[in-house]
Amino acid sequence: MKRTKRSKLSLATTAIHGKHLHAFKGPVNTPIYQTSTYRFQNSKDAIRFAHGDPSVYVYTRYHNPTVNEVEDRIALMEGGDAAALFASGMAAISTTILSMCRAGDEIVSTPALYGGSYRFFRDTLPGYSIAVKHLDPVSLDDLLYLITPKTKVVYFETPTNPTLRLVDIDRLVRLTRRAEKEFHRKFTVIIDNTFATIVNQDPFKHGIDVILESTTKYLGGHADIMGGVVVGKRAMIDRVKGLAKHLGGCADPFAAFLLNRSLKTFELRVRKQNENAMALARALEKHPKVLRVLYPGLPSHPQHKLAKKQMSGFGGMVTIEVKGGVKAAVNVCDNLKVAINAMSLGGVETLVSIPVYSSHINMNSNELKSHGVTPGMIRISVGIEGVEDLVRDFQQALRKI
Ligand code: PLP
Repeated sequence: MKRTKRSKLSLATTAIHGKHLHAFKGPVNTPIYQTSTYRFQNSKDAIRFAHGDPSVYVYTRYHNPTVNEVEDRIALMEGGDAAALFASGMAAISTTILSMCRAGDEIVSTPALYGGSYRFFRDTLPGYSIAVKHLDPVSLDDLLYLITPKTKVVYFETPTNPTLRLVDIDRLVRLTRRAEKEFHRKFTVIIDNTFATIVNQDPFKHGIDVILESTTKYLGGHADIMGGVVVGKRAMIDRVKGLAKHLGGCADPFAAFLLNRSLKTFELRVRKQNENAMALARALEKHPKVLRVLYPGLPSHPQHKLAKKQMSGFGGMVTIEVKGGVKAAVNVCDNLKVAINAMSLGGVETLVSIPVYSSHINMNSNELKSHGVTPGMIRISVGIEGVEDLVRDFQQALRKI
C-alpha cells in the first residue's frame, strides 16, 4: 500500500494534534470515555444501529470515542486509511491473522520473529489448519518457491528480535508482487514495525500492505500500558474490527487515553533513544568483555548499507554478546544499577533481558540457531537517560565478569 492518507503535517505535529486543527473547538486533550455502554436518546438510536449506522455508539467492545481518536491519530501518523487498536500487541497480531486466514490457508514468514508471534504461528495456527512456512531472509528468492495459491499472508519483522538482522523490505515486496502476477491473486504483506517505529522506518512507502505494532513499546513508551495496533486499508480494518468483536481483544479507554498522551512525545523520545543507542553501541563495541555488538547503525553491522537505505534512524535496540555465555550475561544484568533487568522494550527507562530466558524460552537448540540467538546475548532497550550514565553503568557491570 502506498501512502495515501499521510498527514501533510510533520509526524510530531500529527502526533500532537491529530485531526483537531484550525477551527476545531473542544478540549485540548481527548477525554476518557470510561464507559462500557452508551445511553440512547430513544430507541430510534438502537434502530439506526441495527440498520448499520456506524455513528451510533452502543458498546465499548465495538467502539469508543477515546479509542477511535487514537486509532485515527495513528492511522494519520503512519499514512494508512484506518487503524484498529487492541488490548495488546498479541491481540492485534492474532486477530489480524485470523481475520485473513481460514483452514487450508498458508502463511510465509521469516522465522526470526518476536517469540510470542513465533509461538502463535508454531503452536496455535496448526490447530486451525493454517500452515506457516519459513523464509530465510538471507535467501529471499526462496519466497517464489514457498508461495502457493494457498498463501494468504507474507509476514515479517525488521529489525529482528533480538539479533537486529534486517530483512530487505523492497526486495520482499517486489518478490511478493511478482508471485501475485504468476498466481493471479493478492498476497497481503504484513510487517511488525514495533522495533523501528514510523520514526525510523516507513513501511507504506515500501509498498507494505499492513503495519502491526505493539503499542506497549515505543508508541506507549512509559512501560505503563499494554496495547497493539493494526494499520492499513479501510476494508481490511473493517474485517479485523468485525472479528475483534468476537475475539474481544478491544482496547481499554484509559489505556487509549494514556497512549494518546504518549503520542505527543513519541518522536522526541524515539529520536533520543536512537541517539543514546548509537552512543552506547559505540562504547560497548570497544569493550574487551564484549564479543559482539549488534546494532544496525554501526558500520560493523553486516547489513549497515541496507539499514542506511531502508531506515531513517537505527532505533533504540542494541544487542550485545558477552564473553562467558549465559552465566556472564546473568552476572552483567544482575550488576547493572541504572539499566533495569526487566522484559519488554521501548520505554524511557533502559531495560535489559537475556533472550534465552525471555523472548526465546521454549525453543530448542535448532530453533535458537535459526533465530541466531546465543546464550551470552543481552538485549538492551535503550532509554532516554543521560547516555554517560548508561555507558558507565555497563562498564561497571562488565567489570564483574
Ligand atoms: N511484536 C514485537 C516485536 C514485540 O516485541 C512484542 C512484545 O514484546 C509484541 C509484538 C507483542 O506485544 P504485546 O506484548 O503488547 O502483546
